[in-house]
Amino acid sequence: MYTNIPKLGFGLMRLPMCGESVDIEQTKLMVDRFIEAGFTYFDTARGYIGGLSERAVKDAISSRYDRASFLLADKYSWWCVEDGDNEGFFASQLERTGVEYFDFYLIHSLTESSYEKYNERGAFEFCADLKKRGLIKNFGFSFHDKAEFLDKVLTEHPEVDFVQLQINYLDWESEGVQSRLCYETARKHGKSIVIMEPVKGGALAVLPEEGRRMAAAVAPDKSPASLAIRFAASLDGVITVLSGMSDRSQAEDNIATMSEFAPLNEAETEAVAAIAELLNSIPTVGCTACKYCTEKCPMEINIPSIIRGAYNSYLTYDNLALSKGRYKDITKGGALASACIGCGACMEVCPQEIAIPEYMMKASALFED
Ligand code: SF4
Ligand code: SF4
Repeated sequence: MYTNIPKLGFGLMRLPMCGESVDIEQTKLMVDRFIEAGFTYFDTARGYIGGLSERAVKDAISSRYDRASFLLADKYSWWCVEDGDNEGFFASQLERTGVEYFDFYLIHSLTESSYEKYNERGAFEFCADLKKRGLIKNFGFSFHDKAEFLDKVLTEHPEVDFVQLQINYLDWESEGVQSRLCYETARKHGKSIVIMEPVKGGALAVLPEEGRRMAAAVAPDKSPASLAIRFAASLDGVITVLSGMSDRSQAEDNIATMSEFAPLNEAETEAVAAIAELLNSIPTVGCTACKYCTEKCPMEINIPSIIRGAYNSYLTYDNLALSKGRYKDITKGGALASACIGCGACMEVCPQEIAIPEYMMKASALFED
């Protein structure tokens, strides 16, 4: 059904920035290269970059390309819909992105707790009705919970066309994300899959030294990120693999990888399993930099950068001075981790269920003098 869609999608959640604004000129160059190379699928959401991602779609894509030449995915995010006004929210998405329909539309970040919120808002019925009215072409949901719960949702909602799953070689066998089990569950229900976080928010792009050696031994001229993208794209039933590209070099690397896509060979498959084992032995925090939490934080703490850029780097490289330097850069002119008041608003929307206030306390203790 989706066989004509190229297997690399452009995730618009980490676009290049110029201060507080999206760097539209750089985004246009990335979009142009992506389309010129034959790729078509773009993925946005209201929450991405505080609403700027949807607007960037209009500026960089829909106002510059014929509607039939690209595919656009957007999402129904319960926390962005005010006063239960589903129609008003959807209309504002069409208006902001400058299109008259979405090719793919997803209930966003479904978990056991958000399922209740989506049911209260009639989200499944609303999306099914949008499809009937031709305003969306394919209806699905992005999922962040266990395989058993996915089985329940797909049993209760056989009408969905596809699911979007977090799949990467690090999470393939993990207890928390259950990439493999979720993948097998979706396939059991006959659903096609959009893959998100194939590089785990960039964590598989920059490996510790031993991991880099393992990757280079099997793919000497290729980036570690390319192995991760190819791992995801090698699976059956995949519509496309989303990569949240934030600069032109990442875009070029992804385009080069997927323009001449070849599934992982046996040696590469063994290598990624060994790298996963190595990385799983280092207890880092599984933040994917989706930034949903920063929207909610009343203290405007740059949570993902503190966790990933400073705290995880400390755990991975065991170099306090280096991580302190990173922390200083990240928090320059902004809130420190110690500004956290423990309100828990961030945890309500964190799809990775990270105990964020706890890590803010740890970061503050480690990196603040
Ligand atoms: S718990 Fe801390 S980090 Fe989370 S939203 Fe509240 S103040 Fe921000
Ligand atoms: S802490 Fe959670 S919500 Fe915030 S960026 Fe990381 S994964 Fe996303």
